[in-house]
Order: sequence, then C-alpha cells, then structure tokens
Amino acid sequence: MSRQTKIVATLGPATTSPEAMRAIVEAGVDLVRMNLSHGDHDEHRQRAEALRQAAREAGRVVGILCDLQGPKIRIERFASGPVELEEGQPFFLDPGLEGDAGTAEGVGVAYTGLPEDVQAGDLLLLADGLVQLRVERIEGTRIHTTVVTAGVLSDRKGINRLGGGLSVRALTDKDRRDIKLAAELEADYLAVSFPRDGADLDEARDLLHAAGGHGGVVAKIERHEAVNALAEIMDAADAVMIARGDLAVEIGDAQLPGVQKRIMRMARERDCVVITATQMMQSMVDNPMPTRAEVLDVANAVLDGTDAVMLSEETAVGHYPAETIEAMARVCVGAESYADESRPANHALRDPHFSRVDEAIAKTAIATANSLGVAAIAAMTESGATTMWMSRIGTDIPIYALSEQPRTRTRVTLYRGVHPISFDPTQREHEAVNREAVEELKRRGAVQDEDFVLITKGDLAGVRGGTNAMKVVKVSEILGD
Ligand code: PEP
Repeated sequence: MSRQTKIVATLGPATTSPEAMRAIVEAGVDLVRMNLSHGDHDEHRQRAEALRQAAREAGRVVGILCDLQGPKIRIERFASGPVELEEGQPFFLDPGLEGDAGTAEGVGVAYTGLPEDVQAGDLLLLADGLVQLRVERIEGTRIHTTVVTAGVLSDRKGINRLGGGLSVRALTDKDRRDIKLAAELEADYLAVSFPRDGADLDEARDLLHAAGGHGGVVAKIERHEAVNALAEIMDAADAVMIARGDLAVEIGDAQLPGVQKRIMRMARERDCVVITATQMMQSMVDNPMPTRAEVLDVANAVLDGTDAVMLSEETAVGHYPAETIEAMARVCVGAESYADESRPANHALRDPHFSRVDEAIAKTAIATANSLGVAAIAAMTESGATTMWMSRIGTDIPIYALSEQPRTRTRVTLYRGVHPISFDPTQREHEAVNREAVEELKRRGAVQDEDFVLITKGDLAGVRGGTNAMKVVKVSEILGD
C-alpha cells in the first residue's frame, strides 16, 4: 500500500549538497521546509533550485514551504561567553542594555516592549524552558528576576512567558522581506510563526499576494493565545502546524498531548490541513534508528489523522537525513494499516452541511468510494480543492489529483492520501478524458482490469471550482479490453 501521510523535511546544512537533496527526494520527502530563521536569501534560492532539480530527475513532485522566523523574543549576547545561573540568584533582563554587554548579573533583550508585557510573579522560560526566571519587579526598562531553574545561558536564546500574553506582533520587518522571497521562490506554502489570531494570517496572505505569491498560508500554533483562537485561525489559514517546540514552553508540556489531539480533531471538522511538528524523531539526529517512544509519537499522530509529519533538526543538521525519512515513512505506513480501527466517525457525512457543489461532490464521493470499495479515486482538479475536501474524510483509497496545473500538483503534496498526476483534461470529449485517466492509473499499477475507479470532474474542464459530477467506471469496460 502506498503511504498516505505526508513527510515534511526541513532543509539545512545536512541537506544542501545535490547528493543529500537527491537522497531525501528518493527517500520519499513530500514537501521541504525552508526555515527562514537561518541562512540568507541566496542560500534559499540555491536550495529551492537544487530541490526542484532533484525532484525532476527522480520524477517526483515535491512542494516547498517557506517558514517565517516571526517575532521570537530573544535575549541579546554575553560579553565573555555563556553564563551559568544558579538557583536563587538575581538576574535581570533589560532592553536598554547594550547588545553585547550581558554578564552573570543580567543581559539585554531584543524586544523593547518586554517590560510593559510582564509583571511581578510571571515565570519566564529561556532556552525552551531550560532556564526559568521569576519576575520580581520592573524598574524602568529593567526586569529584575530570580533564577528558579538553574542552567547555562548563551547568546540569543529565546524567551517565552508561561501562559503566553506577550503582545509582540506576528510579522516583523524581516518577515515582510522574507514573504517577498517566498513569492519569488513560488513557495507552495508560507508558514506564519506565532500568529495570535486570524488577522495575523490575513495580513500575511495579503502581503504574499501583493508580492505575486500564490502559496497557501500555514498557521503555526505555538502561542497560548492561538490555542484560545483555534477556530478563527483555522478559518483564516489553509493549514495549521502544531509547532510543539514553542507551544510546549508556552502552555506547559503536560498540556501538549491533549492540545495536539484537540487541534487535529478541530482541523478535520473545519476542513483545515494539519502538520505535526518538532522532535518527532529527534534521536535520529545522532542515531540511525528511532526510539520506541518516537515510533509511537509518529504513529499516534497518524492514527489521530494528521496530514503530515515534520522533521526539523533531524534533516537540517542530523547525521541521517535520508534514513530518518525512510524510518518515518515505514512507521506511517505501519500505523495507516490500523487507521480504520481508530478513525473517528465521520462528522462531514453524519451531519452534512455543504456550502458548495464541488465540496458536496468531493465529500459524498468518498462515502461512495468507501461503500463500493473502488480501487482508486481520480479527481480532475484545477485548484486541488476537491482533493483537499476528499482527504478530510477518512479513506484508505488512494486519491489521485489529476491536474495540468503545476502549482496544484505541488500544493496537494501536503494533503493526506492525495497523489499528484500531470494530466490535461481539456480539449477532448468527456469519454476520451475518462478513458485516458483510467489508462494513466493502470499504467502506474494503481488499478487492475477488474477494479472500479471513481472519477470526479466538471462539465467545463479547466475551470476552478467547477467539479459537479462523479462517475464510477469499471477499468476493463472503459478501456474496452
Ligand atoms: C516549533 O516551535 O515547534 C516550530 C516548529 O517552530 P521553529 O522550528 O520555527 O521554532
């Protein structure tokens, strides 16, 4: 059975050479993530070109996701290297301090609004929570704290507040420049870091369109506020990423499993695509095989209905990028074979509320396909929307997105169970188009003569949102064998 769950791999020094790029494409990566927190624009341009070249050579379709840095609040630098903080000692944070003047007594902060955003009693988590500081009082720009959890602090470590509530805006000036790069690279997705609400996503989408970009917008759920605004965020975004690194720091790690499951359930109900991210196979940065706990983590995300699982350091700086993708692919396929045992009863078909004709055709097509047990679904799609709706509903039947639009074929790389095929449905009679679609599936070994195929399409081929029909055909009959 072919894998349904998609794999997103972050590019980095470990995946820059043409050989490494070829290896991850051959290992099965579906979408690469360019982390715009690191590297310059030329480096990202070269990686995008190398990736597209490797995908062309391998005959695979691989999408590109550009991930904005966002307003991560960070401390500044230390004058003489990292400092060791001891429990109970005083330590200050001060945006008024010179950038490189940090000592064991205190350090600068890159965000000038921090003193207004915090109050006595707040817990500040530095370096992903490795060092914890309790705010005692604020004097001018200086925040006086006491070290609650001791540890070593080095330059530019991130700061979060337990419970969230830091008011910094989602898009920085750097993000605005990087959005232009995402448009230039024709990225399939733009991920927005630390959005608080739907307006942050609307703004990013407007800027992307103004720059000539076309990609979908991914909301990274990593702030406490975002967890409280999930419905609004999902309605404004094309996809959400469960950014578990920062999210765990803001909400506390014990809340993370429950929140992850809630995000997945809500996303399915709201026709939003979901990526589960961060430390999924972290031990594979240094080891050639995952731990049992990592296998369970990936498999649970698959069983809970994630569209994609994401690798960060594992493929950006790890020693085994291709092996990690292969291991993840193996675990996904294993978990998918048990998916119908855990698949939630389908909301979309139990209590249908279709607002569009193409949505109704897409969703009822899956019910029909599941019930009849067809071997494949061939969706002739202009924008890919039909296949997105189809993939919101649980099915083991592969969904083929047949499109002549290259952008659509790379966009569907994120949708669970959807496989892109280059196919032009225009300029021919309906019957000829159906036959050619089935021929294509047969050529790929996706169907046999005795199988049935469900086809969805529009009366006017090549029109966005035009799907208004479904047809079920037997392979041998339509091919006239
Ligand atoms: C995360 O915090 O989990 C995440 C995916 O974001 P980043 O890697 O940009 O910190």
